Amino acid sequence: MPDPPIVTRFAPSPTGHLHIGGARSALFCWAFAAGLKNLGLDGRFMIRIEDTDQARSSDESARGILEDLAWLGIEWDDGPELRLGSGRTVGGDSRGVGPYFQARRVATYNAYAEDLIRRGRAYPAFETSEELEARRKAAVAAKRTYRFERPGDLVAGEFPRGRWERAVKGERHVVRFLSPREEVVVPDRVLGDVRIAPGELDDFVIRKADGFPTYHFAVVIDDELMGVTHVMRAQEHLANTPRHVAMQKALARLDTGAPFRTPEYAHMPLIFNMDGTKMSKRDKAKAARKAAKDATTKGATPASLAGACGLEEGPVAGFLAAEHDRLDVAEALARHLKVTLPEIEVWDFRRNGYLPEVITNFIALLGWSSGLKDGQGKDVEKFDMRFLAEHFSIERIGRTNARFDRAKLLAFNADAIKGMEDGAFASRWWSWLGEHEPEAASTVRRAFGDDPPASPRLVMLGRALKPRARTLREALAAARFALVGDDAYDFDQAAVAKHLQGEGGRGLDLVRQVRERLAGLGDGEFTPDQVHAIAEQLAQQSGAGMGAVSQAVRVAVTGAGVSPGIGETLAVLGKASTLARLDRCLRACVV
Ligand code: GLU
Repeated sequence: MPDPPIVTRFAPSPTGHLHIGGARSALFCWAFAAGLKNLGLDGRFMIRIEDTDQARSSDESARGILEDLAWLGIEWDDGPELRLGSGRTVGGDSRGVGPYFQARRVATYNAYAEDLIRRGRAYPAFETSEELEARRKAAVAAKRTYRFERPGDLVAGEFPRGRWERAVKGERHVVRFLSPREEVVVPDRVLGDVRIAPGELDDFVIRKADGFPTYHFAVVIDDELMGVTHVMRAQEHLANTPRHVAMQKALARLDTGAPFRTPEYAHMPLIFNMDGTKMSKRDKAKAARKAAKDATTKGATPASLAGACGLEEGPVAGFLAAEHDRLDVAEALARHLKVTLPEIEVWDFRRNGYLPEVITNFIALLGWSSGLKDGQGKDVEKFDMRFLAEHFSIERIGRTNARFDRAKLLAFNADAIKGMEDGAFASRWWSWLGEHEPEAASTVRRAFGDDPPASPRLVMLGRALKPRARTLREALAAARFALVGDDAYDFDQAAVAKHLQGEGGRGLDLVRQVRERLAGLGDGEFTPDQVHAIAEQLAQQSGAGMGAVSQAVRVAVTGAGVSPGIGETLAVLGKASTLARLDRCLRACVV
């Protein structure tokens, strides 16, 4: 018999987008399994969708999470199937331990819950939520911490026949686990043994009144039945783990009778913002609220903000007063106030033009390091997935909280963009536009032909944008000049006054002369180098200097003083557009 596989898993609840912290958990699990594969061992990375919270789960969210993982290049061996753009499928059930959606496994959980009841390790409990709430309030009033007290009729190891009969007759109930009275030890590969004193666990619920398992129960059953050997997850789950270990000790497999195993646990450090607060979805609301409050000090009111955002005043006022953190309100306010909300979910980074290989590199450093040094003795920080798979080890996961340094991530992304081949940049930028900025993509198609990445002018534009754009979105902003019609860009009046009309219209004069010289170039000669040479020649002959010539021409053809190098700017526009724009400027800007 071959050795059983070594299985890690990522088990997202499909209640929203994939959080960047979730991506980090998935990445570490993936890397662990991939490292084993490198050694010729049967390491497997599995995805399980934890959708037992019926009200909050959605198929759409599950799909989004899988797509984000695939986008990051974190591919799973076992789990829901997803067809990639390339036509390849990831996931599947080759080990025959699925289905991988918990909502489809309810019969299994019920069988195990019943088995626990029969063996006197769990019991139906009939307290209503009102009764429990009253008990909780009484405890608070008496300054006691509330915990569910085990009813007196229960004896560990004895079948609770009376309760079982009431339950079978259909009386509404939950099922509670009869927690052990002895110490529970959680062996953790990162934190060492975590000990829970005897009696600290209460009889928690394992099956809800709606018949669905709680997270704790489903996770323990599935980790066993799906052969999970290594559970790597964030430290926020550490408090749950003693319950899981206690249940593993009480459960036995219904197929073989074998006791449940306790997997290896590794709880990973939490991810914090640089200011020490926990990185969470609420950060978006906080940022939008701050911007809105700044606006109110400058005269805006909840009513005026609501009007400008197309929202009712009530929700905006409530949002400002921190009564709720509604994301739609936060996003509408951010759009109106032109602030960027902090990216929290993988989708946010994706939409804002971060590269997947940069994200995986960066999040790999949140709580892990390779320990390797480069030639200068500095930590090796830039690497790819292959490196990660080769060097990842649980031993090198740290214990202290990780800091999410956005400036560093942006610098990583900028470096990766700068280092891309021209052609690669053009195609990646183009596919990003198609996915996230369809309107701009149509404009690009109009300006650069049906297959834009194949257009030498687009490749040239890309070469000019790469050193300036830290994200693909920034590249779009910097490319705007080439995407507007020749008569559709606005002139920035301050730039016009400074670079064209100042000093007796010297700039306009330079524009006139450049126009004349450029008109003499053939279409094939309209290259960045040739154009640059003409500008330089004029700069020398006129004595105006290259700065003055380029700024004047730049304002003339883009309306403003910021664009790539002048040779590249004009070559990207092409001869016809350049001349049309220079003429338009000479008509529009002469005083
Ligand atoms: N469904 C849980 C979550 O999304 C998974 C926790 C675990 O890894 O056990 O937080």
